Amino acid sequence: MNVTLFHVYATFAPMTASSSALSQERTAVADACRRLGAEGLLIGTAGNVSVRVEDRVAITATGAVLAELTPDQVTVVDLDGKIVDGTLRPTSELDLHLGVYHRYGSGAVVHTHAPLATAVGLVLDELPCIHYQLLALGGTVRVAPYATFGTPELAGSVLAALDGRGAALMANHGAVTHAPTLDKAVENALLLEWACGVYRHAAAMGRPRVLDERQQLAVIEAAIARDYGTTHPVPPAQEETR
Ligand SMILES: [Zn+2]
Repeated sequence: MNVTLFHVYATFAPMTASSSALSQERTAVADACRRLGAEGLLIGTAGNVSVRVEDRVAITATGAVLAELTPDQVTVVDLDGKIVDGTLRPTSELDLHLGVYHRYGSGAVVHTHAPLATAVGLVLDELPCIHYQLLALGGTVRVAPYATFGTPELAGSVLAALDGRGAALMANHGAVTHAPTLDKAVENALLLEWACGVYRHAAAMGRPRVLDERQQLAVIEAAIARDYGTTHPVPPAQEETR
């Protein structure tokens, strides 16, 4: 399938820079980490989050406890990885984040070792499209082959797995999501973790049914027709007769 909901909603319009220090974005990254921690997707110092504004990237520092992250633990780099602002060394997965920005023009990247996503990446080559909400990530979610953390090999395999997708699982490691905005990248991480949990429950009972291409296409057409995912006010005339 050439067009998915991921493509429909993924308009990669970069934000405009308010300052080179990206103070708002550093706060947003810290907020996102604490939310992911509260949702159970982060364990200790594992995982990393970044947001891009034009040619600057605010990214979590290596060794920081993400669930308690503060804005001063977010470092600003350029798209070549050179530190522009901040006192802490950026995450060891910096090349992975920069690779996503270079190849896909995204606005934010989230990497976690979330338990259910990591578990699915231990046994499957891809998470099948078991629910129509997964179309927001592009449908099936590929599992990138294992490579040592922080290596170009890992970044390369994850970038390939993300082709046309808003998420990838990483064998024996975790998961990566990306999106035009940080909020959306976080939502994608939560959606992926939910879907992995649903798959696990279903697989414990039997063989999960998978949406075929025709069913997926019908969802995409319906979502486009109804502008799915946004709220719609009731017209005043209808409101009176409800
Ligand atoms: Zn990792």
